[in-house]
Amino acid sequence: MQTYQGSCHCGTVRFEIDTEFTEFTKCDCTLCAKKNAVMTKVHESQFRLLAGEADLGTYQWNTGTAKHHFCKSCGIYTFHRKRVSPDYFGINVFCLDEAALADVPVIEVDGISMSRV
Ligand SMILES: [Zn+2]
Repeated sequence: MQTYQGSCHCGTVRFEIDTEFTEFTKCDCTLCAKKNAVMTKVHESQFRLLAGEADLGTYQWNTGTAKHHFCKSCGIYTFHRKRVSPDYFGINVFCLDEAALADVPVIEVDGISMSRV
């Protein structure tokens, strides 16, 4: 298990995760398609918000269960609390400082059919 530091663009929101990367996911739901996000998943016990709690915006849509967080200053999506498994966070891997992104396979997730209106 390795610890990775993450932050938004302006550095207001900072967090760290403990994980072993096996795969990243890309989701085709309407929100993720617009964010073009590539994500990894960690249990809440492996996630620590280090700074920026007051500057964290929250966007909720569809069932309103998942909480999609972004920095209110720079607007960057940093992580979200998941709907189907709410004790897990989805993490924007591009916010991580030292992830060896190229070595991790990216899996396409069928998010459209998971969306409920
Ligand atoms: Zn920011």
